[in-house]
Amino acid sequence: MITAKFGGTAVTPRNLVYLKKIISPFHKVVVVSAVGKEFSSDVKTTDLLEKYFFSGDDNIWKAVEDKYRRLTEVNGIGIDVDELLFGAKARARRYGLQYCMSLGEELSAKIVAEYLGAAYVEADEVVRFGVRSLLFKETMSAMSNAYKGVKLAVTGGYYGMGKYGRQTFSRGGSDVTGALCAAATTSSLYENWTDVYGVCVADPVKVYGVSTIRSMSYSEMRALSRGGAEVLHPSAISPAERFSIPIKIGNFYNPQGASTLVSQCYSQNKLLSVTEQRVDGKIKTTILHNMNFAEISAVVSGFFGERYSVLNCFGVSINTEKNKTYSCVFSKNKAVLVTESTVIEDLYKYLRRAELIKVD
Ligand code: ASP
Repeated sequence: MITAKFGGTAVTPRNLVYLKKIISPFHKVVVVSAVGKEFSSDVKTTDLLEKYFFSGDDNIWKAVEDKYRRLTEVNGIGIDVDELLFGAKARARRYGLQYCMSLGEELSAKIVAEYLGAAYVEADEVVRFGVRSLLFKETMSAMSNAYKGVKLAVTGGYYGMGKYGRQTFSRGGSDVTGALCAAATTSSLYENWTDVYGVCVADPVKVYGVSTIRSMSYSEMRALSRGGAEVLHPSAISPAERFSIPIKIGNFYNPQGASTLVSQCYSQNKLLSVTEQRVDGKIKTTILHNMNFAEISAVVSGFFGERYSVLNCFGVSINTEKNKTYSCVFSKNKAVLVTESTVIEDLYKYLRRAELIKVD
């Protein structure tokens, strides 16, 4: 039995057909996000809903309507979308911001359920929050009751019912709903379908052809998600880990293509991720890895050594050139470089030459 979650890009007029192709008789629960971006400058439904809540601007609501009308029209889905949208608008600004922002997932799930000929299971009925956080046990039992005996069910991600009304997870939270559904139905696999080939060491936009990390452990994925990898919500890991359910992160455009499997097995990759952040006017580059201290310090001093004089690479290394200071702090499985200007492109090149970043 499989639980599959589809991100917003799959739930767009031209891509919904890919979702349908993936669903097999082994699938039991499908979790969907709100309609996502169709092109890079497009605005996600959830962002539109947030703006609509604060402004009440009818043009923004029309943009939301347009997304869902086209979703049904392009795919020939026989649902009364006008009635759905009318009902959603009436509730949109009445029950608070989180309620309004959850409407995209609710609309997506109702439409996708009709499209797949599946049962619609309302997230309010199965995802339970306490005053602040998720009530795990209540959610598990509500879900196992709701999905029992259902052949295929569709549920909206990202929200559920709280003590004082509907509540959402943080952004990207449909991943969490999917993981909870997988746990409650003791699925043998949790598929998380996105528009990229799983998790890569480097940004695929900057390193053309960078290869996917084929497998990694739950804890490695957790470190990556916490470090800002946007491919999976950090809270989606524990429910799967608790029941040893592997998470497959794959590309819905090419389901047989490269993907990342997150399970109990540790990655074979020496390098897991290289990310860059701007913090207080400095550039912080974080390298997550599976190397021992000697190996990672050789990589870092090798990189800096090509450009700057390395004074010391043990614990903290300070390198000076042209009165600039560079520092590197090592902790277990992590090296953080702090520099005055970006080094990521050079670092990518260096790591490619060292064959720590592989390209296909
Ligand atoms: N639609 C929400 C967001 O854009 C939740 C999700 O997609 O998981 O963050």
